[in-house]
Amino acid sequence: MKRIGILTSGGDSQGMNAAIRAVARSANFAGLEAYGINYGYKGLVEGNIELLDLDRLDGIIKRGGTILYSARFPEFAEKEYQLKGIDQLKKFGIDALVVIGGDGSYHGAERLTQHGFNSIGIPGTIDNDIPGTDFTIGFDSSVNVAVDAIDKINDTATSHQRTFIVEVMGRGAGDIALWAGIATGADAIVIPEHKYDIQGIADKLTKNRENGKGHGLIVIAEGVMSAQKFKEELDKHGDFDSRAVTLAHVQRGGQPTAKDRVFATQLGDYAVRLLLEGKGGLALGVHDNKLVAKDIIDTLENHKHQTDLTLLELNDRVRF
Ligand code: ATP
Repeated sequence: MKRIGILTSGGDSQGMNAAIRAVARSANFAGLEAYGINYGYKGLVEGNIELLDLDRLDGIIKRGGTILYSARFPEFAEKEYQLKGIDQLKKFGIDALVVIGGDGSYHGAERLTQHGFNSIGIPGTIDNDIPGTDFTIGFDSSVNVAVDAIDKINDTATSHQRTFIVEVMGRGAGDIALWAGIATGADAIVIPEHKYDIQGIADKLTKNRENGKGHGLIVIAEGVMSAQKFKEELDKHGDFDSRAVTLAHVQRGGQPTAKDRVFATQLGDYAVRLLLEGKGGLALGVHDNKLVAKDIIDTLENHKHQTDLTLLELNDRVRF
């Protein structure tokens, strides 16, 4: 093996750059060349591929976004485009591909593996919704962005005795809402994995008001409904002087936390070491604090991400 390709795909996340840097540097350390593929699978099919100049890696460990850019390219779900991608990889003499991305991006890596091209997935998404890993790169940073914003919202909520409904990202997963909600002392956390009880939430806010706590905080995952829609539902159950806020894309930007930087570096290096051992077709991650590498096809076909619902119970105990 001489050349490794790297691409980032799907929604960007903090820490993707740290992962790119780690794959390229570890590859170079082992005497391999690292090729960057710009704009995800779109760039792969178009042959937007270049040798990664080591100078481009300087200082990127602390930068959000991805120096390789990202793109949505639904056509890659079709075999014709997957085979075109493999042709491009062969044309550039690339022997293996490291894909940094979310669930959809993993499916692309799975297809390439099924067509015989050795690919490894590194979980890079703020959503934390990938099977085969407890955490994804970007999740910790994203939660911290949300917590910082919600703390600020809580200040004004307290001053005006208002109830804020804050919508956070996560696609179909409630992980960001759970972590951000617990970390900011939310009165209720509403996630897709658990049926919510609007009357119960309204009763809790009313009881809080009777006990002298006039402000409220509800953190809702985007996978349930918009903050605005939830506000309209809540307003039917009482007057809480409510306001809806959507944090949106700010959650995907900014500097990665130290945890994400270290995690990304570990996974990037791990991918290279596995490839050097002749392994591939893997989904990388962390489980019980240990790096893990699992068969990517089995992981995607037979496993689902499990949101830790004990966190919801935890919030109920400390925020009754
Ligand atoms: P995030 O969830 O953080 O946005 P993601 O990787 O899940 O990240 P998607 O837009 O779902 O984001 O997927 C990224 C890209 O992966 C798609 O634009 C497409 O090129 C490719 N992809 C998605 N699904 C498949 C599939 N079933 N087969 C092959 N490629 C796919």
